Amino acid sequence: MNRREFFGGSLAGLGLMAVSGMSSEADGATIGELDKRSVAKLRISSQLGVCPGDTLEEKLANMKKFGCEAVEYGGDVVGQGEKYRKMADDAGLKVSAICWGSHGGDLCKGDPARVESIRDDMKKALETAGILGCSGVIHVPAFSSETTMTNQEIRKMCLDFYPEMAEFAKSCNTNLILEPLCRMEAFFIRQVADGTAICRDCVGAPDKGLGVMGDFYHMDTEEVNDMAALIYAGDYLKHIHLAGGVEEPRRTLPGQNSRRFVDGFRGLKYIGYQGFCSFECGRGPGDIMEEFPKAIKFLQSQWEEA
Ligand code: MG
Repeated sequence: MNRREFFGGSLAGLGLMAVSGMSSEADGATIGELDKRSVAKLRISSQLGVCPGDTLEEKLANMKKFGCEAVEYGGDVVGQGEKYRKMADDAGLKVSAICWGSHGGDLCKGDPARVESIRDDMKKALETAGILGCSGVIHVPAFSSETTMTNQEIRKMCLDFYPEMAEFAKSCNTNLILEPLCRMEAFFIRQVADGTAICRDCVGAPDKGLGVMGDFYHMDTEEVNDMAALIYAGDYLKHIHLAGGVEEPRRTLPGQNSRRFVDGFRGLKYIGYQGFCSFECGRGPGDIMEEFPKAIKFLQSQWEEA
């Protein structure tokens, strides 16, 4: 086959794959069958920091009052799943995820002892995520300052390490969720597609305990097209972080800077996303008791427009 034959014969397939999550399961499906907009839902969650309230109970109560469906906890809840699940239950909320971080970049230090350390602690976090009934444990392989390994070395490390974690996550009824970060924070896994490809190469299907997420702040720098990025992830997409983009006030509540969500929300709608979209952002100017619900209304209007 020459170049002309290759491209001529592949264009129709490429066009379909561009909007299908690029997965082999999509082969043979029509565009109509891939369009899952009728089942998509905007389900808002929040981390604790940005939400108004002086105590955990007040914050959870305010989340509920302002229209959140879930809370995203930090890594400090690991080992205390029952307690924090009950607190969410009592407030009428679900738990969306545990934001766990990089564990000091231990996976990417080239030190077997540190890999053992992250293996044990990640399993504890996944067990807690299972008890909390949440989508997963959000993980970053390494921030740039935490590793001297190359891109290729880290990718190999991920492919060696994640399959076992994915299997464990699946046994806990949850997921390990890879978070792509912008170039100011990490050089490894910057686009949603990077994370998706690692999931595919590790476990081969989106229901095997390993997933990816999108963060609208990081995506503002790294993605050419939010809709395409999220459609690419397809069913591997397990979580979303909500924040304004890089313009000042930077990484603030949605609606407080020029960052728009319509394009990304179109992607979420198209794949029938029903997971949580969770605030991970600063508070910006203004009274947070007014700005927080205003941000939720802004996102709801962006969803309607999408
Ligand atoms: Mg994030």
